[in-house]
This record gives sequence, C-alpha cells and structure tokens, in this order.
Amino acid sequence: MRDFNLSTILLVAIVLVAAAFAQTAPANRQPALDVTSMDRNVDPCTDFYTYSCGGWIRKNPIPPDQTSWGVYSKLEDETKLILRDILESAATPDAGHDALKQKIGDYYAACIDEKALDAAGTSPLKADLDRIGRLHSKRDLAEVAAAMIPHDGFFDRENVLFALRSDQDYKDSTQVIAEVDQGGLGLPDRDFYLKTDAKSEELRKAYVVHVQKMFELLGDKPSVAAAQAQTVMRIETALAKGSLTRVERRDPKKLYHKMTRQELLALSPAFHWNAYFAKVGLPSVRSLNVATPGFFKTMNAELEKEDLGSWKAYLRWHLVHENAPYLSSAFVKADFDFYGKTLQGAEELEPRWKRCVAYVDNDLGEALGQAYVQRSFSPEAKQRALKMVKEIEEAMQRDIEALSWMTPDTKQRALEKLHTVVNKIGYPDKWRNYSTLAIARDDEMGNVLRARAFEFHRRLAKIGKPVDRGEWQMTPPTVNANYDAQKNDISFPAGVLQPPLFDPNSDDAPNYGDTGSTIGHELTHGFDDEGRQFDAQGNLRDWWMPEDAKKFEQRSSCISGQYSQYLIVDDIKINGKLTLGEDVADVGGLILAYMAWQDETKNQKLEPLEGFTPEQRIFIGYAQQWCTNERDETKRLRATVDPHSPEKYRTNGVVSNMPEFQRAFQCKPDSAMAPEKRCRVW
Ligand SMILES: [Zn+2]
Repeated sequence: MRDFNLSTILLVAIVLVAAAFAQTAPANRQPALDVTSMDRNVDPCTDFYTYSCGGWIRKNPIPPDQTSWGVYSKLEDETKLILRDILESAATPDAGHDALKQKIGDYYAACIDEKALDAAGTSPLKADLDRIGRLHSKRDLAEVAAAMIPHDGFFDRENVLFALRSDQDYKDSTQVIAEVDQGGLGLPDRDFYLKTDAKSEELRKAYVVHVQKMFELLGDKPSVAAAQAQTVMRIETALAKGSLTRVERRDPKKLYHKMTRQELLALSPAFHWNAYFAKVGLPSVRSLNVATPGFFKTMNAELEKEDLGSWKAYLRWHLVHENAPYLSSAFVKADFDFYGKTLQGAEELEPRWKRCVAYVDNDLGEALGQAYVQRSFSPEAKQRALKMVKEIEEAMQRDIEALSWMTPDTKQRALEKLHTVVNKIGYPDKWRNYSTLAIARDDEMGNVLRARAFEFHRRLAKIGKPVDRGEWQMTPPTVNANYDAQKNDISFPAGVLQPPLFDPNSDDAPNYGDTGSTIGHELTHGFDDEGRQFDAQGNLRDWWMPEDAKKFEQRSSCISGQYSQYLIVDDIKINGKLTLGEDVADVGGLILAYMAWQDETKNQKLEPLEGFTPEQRIFIGYAQQWCTNERDETKRLRATVDPHSPEKYRTNGVVSNMPEFQRAFQCKPDSAMAPEKRCRVW
C-alpha cells in the first residue's frame, strides 16, 4: 500500500531488484558494537561516520547482484536464508502439511520452476493482450484498465493511468473511503521525465530503448516497437507534468479533495468512470478522495488528445512491464537490464530463489510470517522490545514537557497524541486469512495474478467498514519499522528486532543507540512536518497554537538548511525539503534514545568497555547501524525518490546537532561534528 502518511526508517524497495547474495548462513553475527568495523585513524570529530564504519566499509564490498550493501541489507539477506529454509521444507511434498504450509510451499515450488516459465513464453499474457487488441473505442479503455489489477506491493510499479485504493478519510479517521491518485508512469518518479541534466537525458534514452525491447519481446517488428516506445514516452511525460512532486506530496492538505462521484465525472469526463467502478467491484461508490485533481485533468486532456492506437501501445507496455518479473527469462533479463542495471547499477540478477522468497513474502506475507516468528521470534524478545518502547515514550514525554519553545496548550495536545500512540511489536495479533486465495503448484503466473486480485479486493472491501486498527502493513520478517499517521501507531516487525540492530548479548548503550534510536525515530514521525498535521485520533486537524507552529517551522527549516548542504554524488546535494521528516525523526530519535538510556542506567556504575566510555558506545552503536556501501546509480536514484538522507549524513548530520556527542568525544568547537550552529526540533 502506498500510504502517503506511512513513514519508515528505511526506503521500502523502490523498483525491482534489491536483496542480497550470501549462500551460507552467517557463522557469527556482527555484535551491536563491533570495534573491528571502525577506522580509528579517522578523527571522530571530523567524520564520525567513517570513524565508526570505515572498517566495515572496507570489509564489505557490494555483492554483484546488489545495488547497495549495508547493515540492514545484510540482515535482510540473512533473514532470507531462514525464509528459504522454511519454504523449501514447505515445498517438499508431504501429506502432513497444514493448509498454510501447503500454500506457501506450492507458491514457492511453482515460482522456482524456471523451465515451466520459459516454456510458457508470452502465453500468460495472452488473454489481456487480446482484450487490448479488441479495443475499438477510447470509451472502452476504462474497462480494460480496470481489468489490469496492479501489483501494489514492494515493487512499487505504478498502476495503469492512476491508482485506486482504499484509505482512511483524512478528516474522519474512523471511516474508510475510496481514493484515486496519480500514477501511470514507468520511471520511478515524475522528475525523471522532466529534469534536463545530461544524466537524466541519457536515462530517458535508455528507457525508450527498454520499452522498445519489451514490445519486441511481445513480437512487434523493431520499427513498430520503436514508434510505440516513443508514444509511451510522450503519454507518460504528459502524465508526469500533471503529477505532484514528492515534496508537494509531503503536505497531506495537498492530497485531500473529497468529491462526489459526479464531481469526479465532471473533472475527467473522457474516462468512463461508471464502467471502471462497476468492473473493479465498486458500482455504487458515491464519494471518494481525489488525491490529485490536477492529475486527473491532465489525464482527461491526454485521453482526448491521443488516438486509440496510442492508448493501445500504452496499455500493452504497462501490461508487460507489470508482469515482466514473473514471465520467461527473456522478459526477466530485459527488465533487470534497465531497472536493476541501468537505473541502480546492479551487475547481476539475484538468484531465482531469492526473488521467489521475496514474492512469497509479498503475496502471502502473513502465512510465511507465522512460520518465521515461530522459528525466530521469542516472547522474551517481544517483552524486551516493548520495555524499550515504553522507556522511549517516557523520554519523549519528559522532552515535550521541557521544551522551551512550545506553549502549554500545544504541549498538552502533543502529550495527548504521544499517549495515544499504539505499539505493534513483532507480528499481528490476528493473522490474515488466505483461505479464499487459490494457489497452484504448477502455475506461477496464475498464482501471482490471483494473489494480486486477492490483495486488491481485500483492500477495496474495507471501504465503508470500520477501520481495522490491528492490521499490519509490513510483514513479520521485514527489516524495517514504520509510523502510520492516520492510525497513530508504530510497528516493529520481528525482522528488525534482531542482532546486530538489537543484541541481547550487548551492553545497553549500543542497543539504545541502535534500536532505541529507531523507536525514537518512529515516535518522532508523529511530530515531523507531515505527522504533526494529524491529531491523536489520526485526523488531519491543526492542533497547534499559531506561534508554536511558527517556531516548529523555524526549527525544522534549520534542519532542512543543514542537510541541503550535504553532497550525495556528482554535484547532487540532498533535497532537504524531501528528507525533512526523516531528518527530524533521525535527530529526535537519537536524542530520545540518549535520554532513555541515561534514565535507565542512572543508578548503575557504568564502566568503559573495549576502550570506549558508555557515552561513546551509544553513539558508535547508533552510527554502526548505518554502515553502507552504495552504487553511484543508486545514490542518484535515491536523491530523487528517497525521503531518507544517505547513511553518512544520517550519522554525521545527527551527531553534529548533539552537545552530548561533542562532550563524549571531546570535540573542539568548530570541528565538523561540533559546528557553532546546531539544529533541534524535538
Ligand atoms: Zn522514518
């Protein structure tokens, strides 16, 4: 689900290809603080990231099938080995398997059978291709678009033309309503169509070549394929122009326009909405949120302007694009060559088993997740995490009470919001029911399509029903965490609560620096530029006294100014307005973790360990979660699409705002990590 108000600690994979390469189980997991990962030749007050991670960076080159390689992705890789083991056992025929085990095993068995996919060629797409071929008027396009159910999962491929989903009403968080939003692009962001620098132009050329290649794989002659690729580029560029930027989309007010069905029909009359809603199973929808009205005006103009033949090319491209990862190796390879290699710099496609593990996690995540938590997540781990969450929440309470810049009225409402946050730890209390989803052991594409339809309709079925506040948006093995502004809850899947991020064998300081700061990060999201616009109940409502809002903006603009100075790659600097919410959460997260750690250990006599004081260990523990190597292509991509700053600045940007850090390492005034001007919001 592409919830606008879902903030995470990491980017949820952008486009196809992520994950890692390690064929053997880890012998020794890295501890929460690993002195051999450091580079002590570097002055911590000059570059704390390299001081903490220099050794790790040298020892951990990027595997050929990876686009970046860091502590999180390595852990994800180790988790995949466990998931593979579960799936291989489930895929072994055994009459004793229960229904869930049978389902994930059959899915995996069908997925891993590459020979069957190669033999099938383009036949899995035949019915849809025929439907597009039979289109005889633009009026019928809506029904064909409705039949192309999007895979709104972790691949984040855009829908045909636009997205339809269910969402909590921004102004009444107890209600679930329908929502339509911009979409319809093949490149990962509207900016890729519009930027004029040399690298962007080069990338657009490569994209058109890729689209042409896919048409050729469908059997089109090169000259026809080339012309159709140009058509696709023209239509998508127009849609991109009508789309909001990522920075604009950080403001929820810009995404809320509740309309009646009639108003939507009037906004874009060239699209046959009545046929569309009937086909997706919402024949009687009366009102909905039109997130981006400007986009639908643009879409309407394009529908009028472009002829039927052009729209057929557009639909065929999106059909093949959406499904390429699940088709024969020729499609998979072409898809990888552009989205993995050109766009992100990967050298090799990841092995089939890894892709299949990811597909099961995406399509049957709470079935696979049950087996995963049984094996890898103990009740003690859950209790330990809950305890730390409580401590960080208490630290935030003390922090809010002590804020010098906020008036008592706003403080009271901030505390009310903090006390309303719901904590989700490990896995859902109630598992998703997959009993109506049919999975066949010999039909990979059929499984994918049925899983897609199951998920799409599961979400649409929420419309008009009470909000299910127990639902999770990340699967249990996920190595990530999130805050949801409309539910006002934080989630920590079992996958993120493991070493080295959370290490039961470690002294406290690195654990607070690492997992403690992540908890603080997610809590702070409730109070970042976006999250602060929602109240305790998850409604978009301004609860701030005007003078406090003004001070918030001054303080957060200090942060965006600071981060906007940091260079990512080439001459590209951080877009500090895009990363503002994450940067505020990073800074606030470590401040809260530090406060909680101090409080928790105030009656203990702490001794230095491995040559570092406890105060130094909390900061090194924090920094070492971010040790990362990354390809330049991925850096460029992230500069446009990722609201998180690069790992180096998630470290150096944060510590240089903390006098506690400067004291711990006795930094001289005006050294790089001890600037005269510090920024702090929370
Ligand atoms: Zn975040």
